[in-house]
Amino acid sequence: MMIVMKQDATEDQIQAVIARIEAVGARAHRSPGEEVTVIGAIGDHEHVQRLELDGAPGVDKLVPILKPYKLASGQIRHGEPSVLEIGGRKIGGDRFALIAGPCTVESREQTLSTAQIVKDAGATLFRGGAYKPRTSPYAFHGLGQEGLRMLAEAKAETGMPIVTELMDVRDIEPVLEVADVIQIGARNMQNYTLLTEIGRAGRPVLLKRGLSSTLEELLNASEYILKEGNEAVMLCERGIRTFETAYRFTLDLMAVPVLKELTHLPVIVDPSHAAGRRDLVGPLSLAAAAVGADGIIVEVHPEPEQAICDGPQQLVAADFPAYVEKVAQAAAVAGKEISVAASAPS
Ligand code: PEP
Ligand code: MN
Repeated sequence: MMIVMKQDATEDQIQAVIARIEAVGARAHRSPGEEVTVIGAIGDHEHVQRLELDGAPGVDKLVPILKPYKLASGQIRHGEPSVLEIGGRKIGGDRFALIAGPCTVESREQTLSTAQIVKDAGATLFRGGAYKPRTSPYAFHGLGQEGLRMLAEAKAETGMPIVTELMDVRDIEPVLEVADVIQIGARNMQNYTLLTEIGRAGRPVLLKRGLSSTLEELLNASEYILKEGNEAVMLCERGIRTFETAYRFTLDLMAVPVLKELTHLPVIVDPSHAAGRRDLVGPLSLAAAAVGADGIIVEVHPEPEQAICDGPQQLVAADFPAYVEKVAQAAAVAGKEISVAASAPS
């Protein structure tokens, strides 16, 4: 339920409404608008029914939130998109996040050189996995804490904020030491205990869509994080399973405008894992930027043929600057500019 306060409502009246919401066991989510304050009462149906705020002092009207994902729904922000700020870089609104880096951290040299190349080319954030979800239990599963140390070094050398995956809540402490954004992989999208812990950790999150998840399931998953008070969530479309076998996954680009209708959260696209093939990554990136995505997360490697994992889909680092130029043009078509640190030359 959203409680829309009158334009002349006093702070005391707002506080009284918040106290009433908390008294029935619901959570109050205050969003001060330009003209009026709106307070979301988030809780189960029974709690919210007991509010009895109709006609209370300062209350203009009560508007039900129709979606099951209350905090993720666009309604709670009156259709205003959320703009996140990560290491001085804005993401969302008219700012486009170019998140780039290797699939996995393999060595100090590979990590540092890639970080420098993507930074010089104008990327927003640096990605790299230290904990890797792999289909085969016998495959390389990442360097773990050693990999995290290499990411920390890349951050210290280049100033690039780091995006890295957390698979297991037991690794949360070391991951929090280096991650500016915690990635939740497609396979963990519905790991609700992990989502709750990440919500409590309060660090920005990149939440990837499950391999066979609907947009409603993705939004409900994000709600687990938001509900803990962590508002810095980005959603990521990374390709879904369909009947088509000609390529690895089907990149669902229609998810971008539809998610933007349903939620205020920024929407990022991962063309690398969707395609599984380098030659498709360029065109899909342009399409993602043009369709209005708030960013792209893309894999880049100095020598993809030597990569330990996902070699066939990683962009060649030497080709990355030309790629960025094209993506910037496509983002401009959708009214967005690639986001870099405020102090860096644009
Ligand atoms: C990744 O981005 O490294 C990854 C494994 O992606 P996904 O979870 O989308 O498969
Ligand atoms: Mn990968």
